[in-house]
Amino acid sequence: MEKSVCMLLFLTVAVNCASINMKEDVALINADASPQQQNKTQFQYKYPITNDEILQQDKSFWLNAGQNILKRVLQSEEESQRYKIAKNVIIFVGDGMGISTITAARIYKGQQKFGTSGEEYDLTFDKFPNSALVKTYNVDMQVPDSAGTATALFTGVKTRYEAVGLDVNCNRTIVDKDVYERSKVDSIMVWAQNANKDTDIARQLVEDTPGKKFKVILGGGQQHLGHTMDYTDYCTRQDGLNLTNTWTESHAGSNYILATNNEQLNMVNDETEYLLGPTGTPSLTDMTRKALHILKKGENGFVLMVEGGLIDRAHHKNYARLAMEETAEFDKAISLAINETGPETLIIVTADHSHTFTMEGYSKRGNDILGFTEKAGEPERPFLTLAYANGPGFNYHYTPTNTSNATFPWRDSSIDENRLNDPYYQHIGAFNTKDETHGGEDVAVFAKGPNSNLIRGVIEQNYIALLISYSGCFGPQADLNPACHKVAPSGTSTSLVNISGIILLPLLINFI
Ligand SMILES: [Zn+2]
Repeated sequence: MEKSVCMLLFLTVAVNCASINMKEDVALINADASPQQQNKTQFQYKYPITNDEILQQDKSFWLNAGQNILKRVLQSEEESQRYKIAKNVIIFVGDGMGISTITAARIYKGQQKFGTSGEEYDLTFDKFPNSALVKTYNVDMQVPDSAGTATALFTGVKTRYEAVGLDVNCNRTIVDKDVYERSKVDSIMVWAQNANKDTDIARQLVEDTPGKKFKVILGGGQQHLGHTMDYTDYCTRQDGLNLTNTWTESHAGSNYILATNNEQLNMVNDETEYLLGPTGTPSLTDMTRKALHILKKGENGFVLMVEGGLIDRAHHKNYARLAMEETAEFDKAISLAINETGPETLIIVTADHSHTFTMEGYSKRGNDILGFTEKAGEPERPFLTLAYANGPGFNYHYTPTNTSNATFPWRDSSIDENRLNDPYYQHIGAFNTKDETHGGEDVAVFAKGPNSNLIRGVIEQNYIALLISYSGCFGPQADLNPACHKVAPSGTSTSLVNISGIILLPLLINFI
C-alpha cells in the first residue's frame, strides 16, 4: 500500500511537469465516412497524410532518403575518428523505455507537437549515429527489475534481481556481512572518485561517497531524504533521519543551494557549487539545464546521469498517454544536452528494461497513436493501438456486468470520452495484474560522440559501463584506450575526468 501511495505522488508530479497538450487544430476523422462510421470514429483524432503526399514518396524519394542516411553515417564515422577520449559523459536512462515505447512516442510526438502523421518523425536520439540492442536479463531472472539492470549499466557487473551495487554472491536470503562486503561492486562514479558505500541509496547520496561529492543531485523523492513535506499522505523514513539537513551541514562553508521548490531552483547562478534539489515539480529538461549549468564550469569534464523515471511508473499503471508524454519530455532533455555540449561529450541514451507494451492492429498511417484500429477482431470491433500484455487496465476495459453487451464484455474504446480527456486513461491489459510488469526483450542503446562507434551489435547490458570507462579514461578499461596513455602515461588517467554530477529520479524510491 505504501508503494502505491508513492507511485501516485510521482504520477502527480508527472502531470505537473509535463502538461498534456492535445493539439487543437487536428482534424477529426473521416469526413466522408458513413453515418455509422462517423458515430464510431468521432472520438478519434486523425493526422492525415493525403493520397498526393503518399504518391510523392515514390522510388526516387526513398532512394534519396536512403542516401541521406548513408551520408549522415559516413560523416559520423569521420567525426568519431577525431576524438578518442570523452571529456564529458552523459547517460540518459529512460526507465522502462522499450523499443515499442520509442516507436509509439516518436509517432506521438510527431502527431501531438507537430501535427504530422508521425511515423516519419525522428526523436532526438533516433538521429544518433550508433546504436545496439541490449540484453537486459538479470543473472537469475529472464525478465529483469531496475535494480539488477541499473547495477549492470553503472558498474559493469550483471547481478541478481533486486540487487543494487552487489554481485551474485550476495543473496538477500543470506544475511552475512562478510559476503555483503565482498559482493560490493564499484560504479562508474566510484571509478572516478575511488570510493564506495552501498547501504541505503538515499543515505549514500548524502552521507557517503560518491553521493556527497556529487555537485548536483536533482529529482523527486524528497520524503525519502527525510524532508518534511507540507502534506501528510506520503511515505516517511523508518529511521527518522533528515538527510537534507545532513547534506546542508556537510556543505557548510561552500556555495550551495537546497532547492525544494522551483523558486529556489531558479536561484542557481554562476557562483553555485553544489545543488541538492529534491523538488519534484520542475521538468526533466529544466533539471538537466540546471545540472549542466553547474557542471560545465569545471575544466576537467563531468559525468551526468539523467533518468526519465516516470516512463516506467506510467507503464506500470497502463497509462499509455502519460508514458508517451514522459518519453517526449525525456527526448526534449536529450535535445537540450546536445545543444549545451560539444563533440568531446559522449552521449548515451538507453533503457534499463522494457515493458509489456505493444503497438498492434493495422491502423492506417496518421491514425491517432492513442486511438483505436478498426476492422479487426472476431467479431469485428475497434480496439486500441496501444495495449499491454498485463496490468490494471484489464479491470477498466472488462465489463462483464454490462448486460447491454453481454456477448462482448469489453468497453468500446471508439466511444470512450475518457480516452481523449483523461491523462490517466488506462489502456487495456490482457491479463489482470495490480501493476503491469516489465518486459524481457532487448532494449536499444543509442550513442554519439567519442568512441560511440563501439556501440554496435547485440550486447550485454554491463558492456555500456565498460565502454564509458574506456571512452572517459577512468576505471578498469582506461588502460585499453591508447589515447588515454598518450594523455596520462603515468597511469593517473582517472584524474582526467572529475565525476561531478548526477541526477537521480525515482531511484530514490524503489527499483521495480
Ligand atoms: Zn518498473
